[in-house]
Order: sequence, then C-alpha cells, then structure tokens
Amino acid sequence: MYKKLILPILLTNLLLLSSLSQPLKNVGIAKYAVLEVKEDNCPIREKDNESAKRLTHLYKNAILFADKQNDKYYRVELKDNDYAFVNKKFVEVQAIIPEKRIQNIENISFKETKNEYQLKFELPEFSAFIFKENGKKLSFTLFDNRFDPTEIQVPDLIDKFSLPRKIDNNFELEYKNDKLLFGYGVEKYEKGYVLSVKKPPKINPKKPLKNIKIVVDPGHGGVEKGACAFDLEEKTINLEISKKLRSELKKRGAKVFLTRTKDKQVGLYERTAFAREKDADILISIHQNSLPDRRDIVKKYGTGTYYYHPSAKPLAEAIKNNLVLATDFRDDGVNYASFVLNRPTLPVSVLVECGYIIRKEEAERLADKKFQKIIAKAITKGIEDYLTENFAE
Ligand SMILES: [Zn+2]
Repeated sequence: MYKKLILPILLTNLLLLSSLSQPLKNVGIAKYAVLEVKEDNCPIREKDNESAKRLTHLYKNAILFADKQNDKYYRVELKDNDYAFVNKKFVEVQAIIPEKRIQNIENISFKETKNEYQLKFELPEFSAFIFKENGKKLSFTLFDNRFDPTEIQVPDLIDKFSLPRKIDNNFELEYKNDKLLFGYGVEKYEKGYVLSVKKPPKINPKKPLKNIKIVVDPGHGGVEKGACAFDLEEKTINLEISKKLRSELKKRGAKVFLTRTKDKQVGLYERTAFAREKDADILISIHQNSLPDRRDIVKKYGTGTYYYHPSAKPLAEAIKNNLVLATDFRDDGVNYASFVLNRPTLPVSVLVECGYIIRKEEAERLADKKFQKIIAKAITKGIEDYLTENFAE
C-alpha cells in the first residue's frame, strides 16, 4: 500500500520543483551588476520564466542594474523595491558596483507634427523605460534618470503632458488625454530616445477610413506554411484574404501596405518594422487558427481576435463582432495574448484568426474566394466601427 503511494508523491514533488524558479543569489560582493542589453527587442518580464508577462522591450545598449541572479535570469531593480527579470542571453555584464549610476537628463525638446507629439530626451547613456496604459491614460517612466525641473527648460507646447515637478531619480510623465490612445512608442536616436504619441485622428463618420494608413500582414509565407489541414495551407489563405482586405480598405479611402504580396518568408520583427516604416496607424495580422492538440476542436473553434495592449482591445472587439455577424462562425472571443504582431503600440495592432483551418466546415469556407471577400468586408467594417465609435468628430 505505502510502496504504491510513494512513486506518485515523488513524481508530483518533482514536477512542482521543476515549475518553480531557481533560487536567486547575489550578483557579486558589491550590490549591483551593470548590464548592457545586446540586441533590440529585449524583453523585460514580470517573473523569471519565458511565459511571464512582458513589462517592456528595450533597445540594444540600454543599461540595467541587477541585484540578484539565478542560472537563466538576472533580477533587475527598476526603482526601489520594483523588480523585473531579464534573460541572461540578452545582456552582458559591464561592471559590479556598490551604487546605481543615476544620470542627469541633459535636455528635453518638444515637437508637434501633423499626426504626433514628440518628446526628445538627450541622455548620457540609454536607460530602461516602461509604458503603462489603460486605454486612455498613458504614463512613461525613464529609470535612473534624474530630472531637475529648475535646470531644464520645459518647452511651451508641453501642456499635453504632465512632467514631474520635483527632483527625482526616475523620470515619470503622463499624457493627458480623454480619447482612446491611437498609438505611442519610443524610438532610439544617437543621443537618446524619442517618445511619440499619435494624436487622435479626426474621423468623418461618412468616410472613416479616409487617409488612414493600414498595414495588412498575411501571416507566415515561404517555408513557414502555418497551420495545414485538408490539403490547405494557412499561408495561402492568409495572403488571399489579405489581398481582398487591401482592396476593400482602399475602396473606402485607406492607404494600405502588405508586409508580403508573394509566397515568401518574412521575419516577424521585419513585419513590425515595416509597419513603423510606413508610419501605419493600424496593423492587422491575418491568420487561420489551429490547436496544438486537435482533441479540443469540439470546444474551441470559430472566429476570434487577439490584442495585447488595452488601447488595441476596442479594435479587436469591433473586428471580432463584425466577423461573427458576417460569417456566422462561433464567437471565439476577443483574446488577450502575446504575439510579435499584436505587441506593437505604434501602430495600434491586432491579430485576427478568421477561423479554424483544422475544422472541416470552416476550412472549406475559408478557402472559398467569395467567403474570403465576406471576411475582408467584415474586417473593414470592424475597423470603420472602431474609428467612428472612438474618434468621430
Ligand atoms: Zn498563423
């Protein structure tokens, strides 16, 4: 009786242990290890595992301060008692130091273009930053950057942003706004960062898509076929729907660019960089769904959308609602998930899973040219609804 029980208990304990993180040790005799980020798009996570929530992404050369480590991760101190984790493969140790290096922001300049507000930060070194948003409110923090409001002349046009009033070692700013956010981000330049916040567009409800720039991304391509079932390949259906979506959007006045127009392989970050290059307002990635374990197909099927940032959720909702109406597919929901193609904040990004290619009745319709047009029209209507509901003048 006892012998029979021991094995399952041991197994459960082993499984539990392996799902726990490795214990953290100090980084050295002095308190902090200075870490330099080795490549762009370096994720900073809430916990020390690959599936933990991403808090921010940093550019190459950003400096972090770690106080603890285990085999795979450094624990970095963003602010006092505010910690996050970075995988060791993304960073290099520069030095071990007793105190954090706090740098002074050298200058802040402001620029207003037709579509954006831009704040340019001149910094001695690239530092860590983070955005927080809830759809409307946006805050931006530059860590370990001392800002003295009496030393730096704050530009006049800055009333859209509330800047810190007292000296602090972390620079925190809020964007004052009563509409849904329409894209924001940070880009690197030779002397620091440029923070951009898109102005809410002025939408004419009779022609909501007029002059809106949209990048449509046909998922997969080339050797990356995506999901395959019933002699169909996802990459082909994605491209066919994307081309129809392009012509629908164009008809309605939008400016449209495709990340690929042929059956070729394109990197995920190449696709998001392309969208930024085109100065897109909206990025829509087109996919057909499948499941890692096909047994669940009795429960999970139909049409659904995926967002990552709260400000993109209304777009995901509007597209999903229109797709359910037009296709009569099961409502597979507006889902929160982290993909490279729905993580950009500039442009507003949503990933669409039109249907499940592994479900026969859906696959047949998804491959049908007329049905693809119905999908393209529904997505177009979804984008129009989102623009009208949130930004109509
Ligand atoms: Zn896919």
